Amino acid sequence: MIRHTGANMETVRKSNRSAILKFINDNGPVSRKDLAQVIGLTPAAVTQICTDLLGEGILAETGTNSKSQGAGRKKILLDINYDVAYVFAITIEPEDTVIALSNLQGKQIAIKKCKTDGEKPPEEFLGDVAKSCISLKEAHPKIAKKLTMAGVGITGLVDESQGISSKAYGIWDEPVDVRGILSGKLDMPVLVENNVHALAIAELIYGTGREHDNLMVIKWGPGVGCAMIIDQQVYEGRHNKAAELGHFIVEPNGVKCSCGRRGCLETKISYQALNQIRPFAETDLGNAYEEAVKEGKEKAFDEAIDIFARSIVNSATIMAPDRIVLTGDLFASERIRQKLIAACGSYDEAWGQGKVVYSELWDRENYLGPVAICAKYLLF
Ligand SMILES: [Zn+2]
Repeated sequence: MIRHTGANMETVRKSNRSAILKFINDNGPVSRKDLAQVIGLTPAAVTQICTDLLGEGILAETGTNSKSQGAGRKKILLDINYDVAYVFAITIEPEDTVIALSNLQGKQIAIKKCKTDGEKPPEEFLGDVAKSCISLKEAHPKIAKKLTMAGVGITGLVDESQGISSKAYGIWDEPVDVRGILSGKLDMPVLVENNVHALAIAELIYGTGREHDNLMVIKWGPGVGCAMIIDQQVYEGRHNKAAELGHFIVEPNGVKCSCGRRGCLETKISYQALNQIRPFAETDLGNAYEEAVKEGKEKAFDEAIDIFARSIVNSATIMAPDRIVLTGDLFASERIRQKLIAACGSYDEAWGQGKVVYSELWDRENYLGPVAICAKYLLF
């Protein structure tokens, strides 16, 4: 479908606001004068937008630029007030569900983890999630008034425009109206996104995307997830099915995959597949590898990593991202990361060290995606 979208005054106003806020988010506090220069708007237009944003509490004045001291008038700098709103950040994955309370910068106020219960009817399970949210809210009365919305990141196919989880592999098979159910129980707006797309948006706002426009974000564990950011936007593709790296066919007539095809990358390198080479805890691939070396089984691991690297380099050849960002439990092992990066570099040195990077958000990846989708909606 081809989109034909015109730009009315309101669209232009929003886009100018977003540009100002994204610049401050990526570069830190800035004066109105410098903003006008970098954004390419007149000083009067910038002043007007900033006055609105100050009035809404989204921007705050933060003192002066020390560099300008002694050189005439001091500049007043503007910064984003990320405490202007708080959100529930809910991540639903096949094993665990994480519920966090956070400001718009990902500053965590509280966090709860529970088992994802796919056996329960979805409405009942989401009812439990809502109860956890409400108990977090009650435990933090000071910020309760500023709790504005909830963001949900969920495994599988998501129709984010309707807030529906169309197919959450390993959780529930039928479409579930996550937004409808949760917004009723929480009495607030709810945004729903695929969990890896949400993480990619987190990279865009808080991570590598502050310096680069085009990213490939790869999440490893328990399966393989991938998202492409092109010109600062997540590329969704037809039916939101873009960037299914885990379903690259790497072996003709191989093992049957959850998607219905045979020989997908996931059938070779998912947690389940690697666990068959040598059992290990999900966060402990590094030790499993060490043990496999002792037992003479490392070849199977090396082959899996090599197939993964080849798939990554092939995808990068099509997309030509500025950076490939690695995230997820199975990348927690530095040894495995380095092996993968070296394998990528062996196929093409352009995709080795420096271009393939470990996410700087790794210690917050279990809740930052849903925070980011809310921040994108409210600020950018
Ligand atoms: Zn597949």
